[in-house]
Amino acid sequence: MKIVRLRPGRDKATRRHHPWIFSGAIGSLSREPEPGEDVLVTDADGAPLGVGAWSPASQIQIRLWRFDEGAVDADFLHARLAAALAVRAGMAERFDTDALRLVNAEADGLPGVTVDRYGDVLVGQFATVGAERHKAEIVEALLALTGAASFYERSDVDARKHEGLEPARGLLAGAEPPERIVIHEGPVRFEVDVREGHKTGFYLDQRENRRLVAEAAKGRRVLNTFCYTGGFGVAAQSAGAEAVTHVDLSAPALAQARRNTALNGLPEAEFIQGNVFQELRGFRDRARDFDLVVLDPPKFADTRKLAEKALRGYKDINLLGLKLLAPGGLLATFSCSGAIDAATFRMVVAEAARDAGRNVRILRELRQAPDHVEALTFPEGLYLKGLLCHVE
Ligand code: SAH
Repeated sequence: MKIVRLRPGRDKATRRHHPWIFSGAIGSLSREPEPGEDVLVTDADGAPLGVGAWSPASQIQIRLWRFDEGAVDADFLHARLAAALAVRAGMAERFDTDALRLVNAEADGLPGVTVDRYGDVLVGQFATVGAERHKAEIVEALLALTGAASFYERSDVDARKHEGLEPARGLLAGAEPPERIVIHEGPVRFEVDVREGHKTGFYLDQRENRRLVAEAAKGRRVLNTFCYTGGFGVAAQSAGAEAVTHVDLSAPALAQARRNTALNGLPEAEFIQGNVFQELRGFRDRARDFDLVVLDPPKFADTRKLAEKALRGYKDINLLGLKLLAPGGLLATFSCSGAIDAATFRMVVAEAARDAGRNVRILRELRQAPDHVEALTFPEGLYLKGLLCHVE
C-alpha cells in the first residue's frame, strides 16, 4: 500500500477516529496513488493511523475505511456491511415498515456508501471515488446478506462532481425494479419511484417525524409545505386530520402526492402548485389559518458560506408559518442543511416566534430516523434537525 504521511500535529482528528482527512493535513506521499486507491495513513513520525481511499480531486482527500493497517477487501467489506445490518436488527418490525436505510455512509464505517431498501429492491449511492472503486464487492455482499432481488444505482448526486466522477444511474444486479414500489410505514402506504424520486426515492429520514406529526394531527387542519410526494400530509390524513393542504412547486411531486392519497383510500386533499414563500403570504393576506403547519424545505445551505442566506430563508418561512397557526396550533419545522447546526436552527425559529409575536414551546426535538445512524465520532452525520412546537 502506498503511504500518506500527515503533517506534524495534524493527526488529532484521525486519532479520534474521525473519517475525513483534509488536503491541508497531508504532508508527503510515498508515491502518487490512483483516485480511489486505498492508502496507509501515518502520522508525521510514520506511525500507522489507518487505511483510507485517496481522493485527489476533493477537499476531503482521504476518507478512512478503517483505523488499523488491515486490507479493504471483500471480507472486510462483507463484515462492515453485516455490522450495518446488525445495527438495524429488528428496526423494520419495530417501525412496521419494509423501507429502511441499511447503510449510512461514514456513520457505518463505509464512507460514500448509502443504501436504502424498498421491499426487496436495494437502491445505492456511491458518492466518492473510494466507494466507486469498491462498488462491485459492496453490491455482491449486500445482495448475499439481504437476499434482495435487485440492486439499483442512484449515484446521480452532486457530491460526485467534487470527486471527479460522472453521475451514474441504472440497474447493477438482479431484476429491473417495478416502475413504482409500494412501501408501508405502519398502516400508511406510499408509492416510491426509485428511478426518478429524490435521493434513493423517498425521504426515509422523516419516518419517525411523520409518525409523530400524524399522531398530533387528529382533528386538525394541516398545512403540508414542501410536500413532495405527500409524506407528512398523507400520514396526517390517515391518522384523522380534518383537512390537509399540500403545497409544492413540482407538478410531478403533487401528482404522486395525489396518488398516495388515493392509495390510502383517503378523501381528496387540497393540492396547490406554487412557491411556498408566496403561498404562505397569500394565506396570510386572505386570513386563512391552520392548526398544524409542516415546514420541510429542501436544503437551503450546501456550505457554510451559504448559511447566512439560508438562515434568512428559514426565518422567513417559520415567521410566515407561525402567523398562520390558530392559537394552540402545532408547528413541525425542519432543516436538512448539514451546515446549520441544531442550536442555530433553534435560534432562528426563536427569532421568527418573537417577530410573529407568538409564544412557542418545544414539545419535542426531532432528528433523522434511527436507521440513519449517527457515529459518535462523526457529528457531521447529523443533518436533519427539527422541532415540534406548541404555538400559543
Ligand atoms: N416533506 C417531503 C420532502 C420535501 S423535499 C417529504 O417528507 O417527503 C423538498 C420539496 O420542496 C421538493 O418536492 C421540491 O419540489 C419542493 N420545493 C423546493 N423549493 C420550493 C419552493 N420554493 N416552493 C414550493 N416547493 C418547493
